[in-house]
Amino acid sequence: MPHPHPSIETGVPGRYWHALPDGRLQCDVCPRYCKLNEGQRGLCFVRARQHDRIVLTTYGRSSGFCIDPIEKKPLDHFLPGTPVLSFGTAGCNLSCKFCQNWDISKARALDRLQDEAAPEAIAEAAVRTGCRSVAFTYNDPVIFLEYAVDVAQACRARGLKTVAVSAGYIAAEPRVEFFRHMDAANIDLKGFTEGFYKNLCSGRIAPVLETLEYLKHATGVWFEITTLLIPGENDSAHEIEAESRWVMEHLGPDVPLHFTAFHPDWKMTDIPATPAATLTRARRIALGHGLRYVYTGNVHDPEGGSTYCPGCGTAVIGRDWYKILDYQVTDDGRCRACSHAIAGLYEHFTKSFGSRRIPVRLTA
Ligand code: SF4
Repeated sequence: MPHPHPSIETGVPGRYWHALPDGRLQCDVCPRYCKLNEGQRGLCFVRARQHDRIVLTTYGRSSGFCIDPIEKKPLDHFLPGTPVLSFGTAGCNLSCKFCQNWDISKARALDRLQDEAAPEAIAEAAVRTGCRSVAFTYNDPVIFLEYAVDVAQACRARGLKTVAVSAGYIAAEPRVEFFRHMDAANIDLKGFTEGFYKNLCSGRIAPVLETLEYLKHATGVWFEITTLLIPGENDSAHEIEAESRWVMEHLGPDVPLHFTAFHPDWKMTDIPATPAATLTRARRIALGHGLRYVYTGNVHDPEGGSTYCPGCGTAVIGRDWYKILDYQVTDDGRCRACSHAIAGLYEHFTKSFGSRRIPVRLTA
């Protein structure tokens, strides 16, 4: 049963924590394992200790709702062309210096959280606005797990799909519950060295790789991977090769990989935007390692944005940024030219939602 609507001050009980012998409470949601004294908040800022429990302070609060194209998550192989009702809350459990959503993820005062959003109201809004799915995005849903799970249940009850956009920085036990309620995910693989995760994100790469392997081998969740390429930080040929090899060996050739362009933001304003040529070079490297679906993102690049049939090479979904220009996939997910299966989830395609972004208020 969903929790009653809480006030931000009281929060709702978290499910993953335990008491330590020294009297502190340890949050077990993510690999930070914050150890909290009375009144303290974790690094994500949205989980806090209140007396003898750890609570989630953002349950039922959102930073706003928008209808986006599913391609914006990015997901290129999951109900292409459909609109997705997207929302986030506040806070994050990584501290990426290059954060591209910092106004939300660093919203410490929680003063941006305006819309009261009960799970059923979100599902209702998605149905009313013709969305096919609901996405937990803008900030990482791992930190609002209990809320995301309740929303996901309400959505599935209405026949909607659920999408998580996450860095995959989650501990093993909550990982099982969280992804059991998701139909699709885009996982940020932020770089492919321990140094990158340590120095730029204050995290570790191992839990993220574990999440990716878990998704592939223990769930039916459709997932794609995004790597934001930052000039001079994670865009060397050597690093792209290592990442591509790992994806091929551990996840196989059918997991889509998106290389997206960085724009100067947050604490990294002295680094230039990623040149399109860097994305194209990364895409070629990954294709050369046998990955079948590799994309460039955040740029106009019809070649790098399109999906090609692994059987005959036809461009089965022609795209420019988030727009679908041509669609040659059958309703059961096959190439119209040669019938080769295209990995992912497909339905009858009518038209592309396009690149619009439509703000939605939940209450009339
Ligand atoms: S979810 Fe938040 S409080 Fe819990 S371990 Fe992670 S950063 Fe710390």
